[in-house]
Amino acid sequence: MQTIDKFNFAGKKAFVRVDFNVPLDENFNITDDTRIRAALPTLKKILADGGSIIIGSHLGRPKGPADKFSLKHIIKHVSELLGVDVQFANDCMGNEAAEKTAALKPGEVLLLENLRFYAEEQGKPFIANDASDEEKAAAKKAVKESQKAFTKKLASYADCYVNDAFGTAHRAHASTALIASYFDVDHKMFGYLMEKEVKAVNKILNDIHRPFTAIMGGSKVSSKIEIIDNLLNKVDNLIITGGMTYTFTKAKGGKIGLSICEDDKLDLALDLLKKAKEKGVNIVLAVDAKIADSFSNDAHTRFCAVNEIPDEWEGLDIGPKTEEIFAKVIKESKTILWNGPTGVFEFDNFTHGSRSVGEAIVEATKNGAFSLVGGGDSVACVNKFNLGKGVSYVSTGGGALLEAIEGKVLPGIAAIEK
Ligand code: AMP
Repeated sequence: MQTIDKFNFAGKKAFVRVDFNVPLDENFNITDDTRIRAALPTLKKILADGGSIIIGSHLGRPKGPADKFSLKHIIKHVSELLGVDVQFANDCMGNEAAEKTAALKPGEVLLLENLRFYAEEQGKPFIANDASDEEKAAAKKAVKESQKAFTKKLASYADCYVNDAFGTAHRAHASTALIASYFDVDHKMFGYLMEKEVKAVNKILNDIHRPFTAIMGGSKVSSKIEIIDNLLNKVDNLIITGGMTYTFTKAKGGKIGLSICEDDKLDLALDLLKKAKEKGVNIVLAVDAKIADSFSNDAHTRFCAVNEIPDEWEGLDIGPKTEEIFAKVIKESKTILWNGPTGVFEFDNFTHGSRSVGEAIVEATKNGAFSLVGGGDSVACVNKFNLGKGVSYVSTGGGALLEAIEGKVLPGIAAIEK
C-alpha cells in the first residue's frame, strides 16, 4: 500500500478529499475550525514536496447548489491556515474546474465547490419525499448511471488521490471511495489524519492490552445496539451509562420515574445482559443518579438510588457512588474506549459525571493505558472539560468511528487498502 510519507508529490497534482464540513454562524464565520486544522499536515506535506492540490469536500446537506452551503465561505480561512492563496472553482464539474485544475502549478491549491451540490457525489437523487416509488426508483437509477461520469471527471483532474476525510469513510460516495478505482495502488493513499484514525481503531480492535473497558453513554439503546453487541466480543468491562441507564434499570425491575426510557427495548436490554454474562463481560451500570424535577439546568436536584427514582423526577446524570465505581474500573484498565456522556452534559449542572469519567480516563492514560475517545458528544465533553491532551487519541469521526468499532468495513478505507 502506498503511504503519504513515502510518496513524492513533486510535479504531481493531488486530489485530496478532506472533511471541511465545518460549522458556520449566520454571517458565515467558521465557529470551529478543528476539521480544517486536522487536514493541514497532509496539505503541507504535498506543497513542501512541490506538488499541487485540488481540494474536494462537502459542506452541510445541500439538495443542489445553494449559497448557504458554498465552500467559498471558507476560502479565506483555509488560505490563512495554509499560508497560500487558495484558488476556487465555482463548480466541481464544468469548464471552470477543468481549466483551473489543468492550469494548476506546483505549490498552488484549488478548492472545488461543494461536491454535494451534485446528487452523484452521494449517489442519491435530490427528490421530494412525496415522489412515487417509481419516480424514486427511476431517479435513483439515473443518478447511479451518471455517478460514473462524475467520479471519472473528478479523478481526471489529478495524478494521485489522497483520502484524509475519516468523517465520511463509512460512506461509499464518489469522492470518498469510488474515485480510488481510477488510480493504481501506487497513486492512492491515506492522508496523515486518516492514517492516525485507522491506526487508533486498529489498536482498539486488534491490539488490545487488558483489561479493556468501553464506556458507552448517550441517550438511546437503539442507536448503540450493534456497537454494544460487537464490543461484548472484545471488552472485559462495559460501562453502560447516559440515558441508556434507565432502559436497563427499568428492564431489571427498577423505578425510574420520568427518566428517558425505550420501553420497546426492555427485552433487548435483558438479552444484552444475558449475553454479557455468557461471554464473561463485566457490565457496569449506575447505582445512583442525580435526579431533577424537570428537564432543565435550573431544576431542583438531588441524588437517589438509580432504581428508586420518584414518579415526577428524572435521572439526568450519574451520582457520586456511581462516579466512584466507574472511576475504579477505568483506572484499572489498559485499553479504554469512550463514546457518549454519562448525563445531559449540555446542562452545566449535569456535567459532573461526564467530567469524572474523562478525568479517570486521563489518569489511566498517564499510567500507560491507550484511550480512544470518539463519536460526537464525547468529543464535545473532552473539549468542554479541556481533557483532550490527556487522552491517547480523540477521533474526528462520529458515525465512521462507530461503524468501524461495530466491526464494519469502511468503504473509504477499503478503497485505498485493496
Ligand atoms: P448520543 O447522541 O446517543 O451519544 O447521545 C448524547 C445525548 O444523550 C446528549 O445530548 C445527552 O444530553 C443525552 N443524554 C445523556 N444522558 C441523558 C439522560 N439521562 N437523559 C436524557 N438525555 C441524556
